[in-house]
Amino acid sequence: MDVLVFAEVIENEVQDITYELVGKAKQLASELGGKAVTLVIGNPDVSNINSDVIQVDAGDPSPWHYAIVEKVYERVKPAAILFGNTSASLDVASQFAAQLGLPIATLVTEISVSDGQFVATSIAYGGKIMVDLAVKSPGVFVVNRGSFQAEDGKGEVGSVEKLSLDELGVSDGVEFVGYIKPEVEDVDISKADIVVSVGRGIGDEANIELAEELAEVLGGVVAGSRPIIDSGWLPKTRQVGRSGKTVVGKLYLALGISGATEHVEGVKAKNVIAINTDRDAPIFRIARCGAVADVLELVPVLIDKIREIKGE
Ligand SMILES: Cc1cc2nc3c(=O)[nH]c(=O)nc-3n(C[C@H](O)[C@H](O)[C@H](O)COP(=O)(O)OP(=O)(O)OC[C@H]3O[C@@H](n4cnc5c(N)ncnc54)[C@H](O)[C@@H]3O)c2cc1C
Repeated sequence: MDVLVFAEVIENEVQDITYELVGKAKQLASELGGKAVTLVIGNPDVSNINSDVIQVDAGDPSPWHYAIVEKVYERVKPAAILFGNTSASLDVASQFAAQLGLPIATLVTEISVSDGQFVATSIAYGGKIMVDLAVKSPGVFVVNRGSFQAEDGKGEVGSVEKLSLDELGVSDGVEFVGYIKPEVEDVDISKADIVVSVGRGIGDEANIELAEELAEVLGGVVAGSRPIIDSGWLPKTRQVGRSGKTVVGKLYLALGISGATEHVEGVKAKNVIAINTDRDAPIFRIARCGAVADVLELVPVLIDKIREIKGE
């Protein structure tokens, strides 16, 4: 049976979460003896989506998303439908599942097939525990960003079927009022490979400069925990965590961050390095390596050492 992916398209661009979902969909579909199919609404470039594609020319963003997903679902009859856990996709996923009476698993970080049904690993109680949910087919899965590798879903596109709203039989939808862009941001921390993140342990706004210098020598960007953003030391767009952004890059340097569950929910980088004066700080549980040290003492040494290695 096939596995359907709902592509996240913003301003006519396929977002990275889509490729993560496609990679997983391909794996699940091969286990189920089917194929991955990606539904793309709008006219973005689909040439890197490594699956079959159904592309519906309905503008971006489209007022007909709900109806389109239903019609495409009826055509494909997939065993599973994968959405990204973004505000736009979650909105469509929940309405779609409710209207069709399908089981839905949210905050999903893993999906497998066992004895003919799906098992979704999902975050519960604010990240304190992970639960395995048995989900009957056809099931709807809303997957957290950073759970799968985007690279696995990139490659040559398969067949591309272009459909109009008329061909799909979609004639009504909700009214599209407008697209509200988030605050203009200088950098998008969710797309950065190297993130130097500061927590309350940095002590003072003036010390953010140290993190900025470290980020500069490493070629990264500066982010922060919620208290840093709430204090106005960094803009909201730099917040990592449940009510901020998820970072998925190669390196996350946590400077004076305790590692509260709401914070680490947003840390999906491949390598986490933590510096904290408290050897029992929870951040060390997710750190690949760390130093029990004062950030104000260690960071200047780190900067000098990196400059020395780079020959600066
Ligand atoms: C609904 C909800 C949503 C939330 N969303 C988010 C979110 O999106 N992102 C987020 O970050 N938080 C979020 N929080 C807040 C979260 O619970 C924590 O309060 C917050 O993450 C703590 O930030 P912190 O680690 O910087 O500060 P603290 O918890 O105060 O930790 C400071 C750390 O610095 C260490 N330290 C102190 N001095 C030094 C020094 N000189 N050198 C080295 N280490 C030092 C201390 O040992 C400590 O571990 C949310 C909370 C709720 C209830």
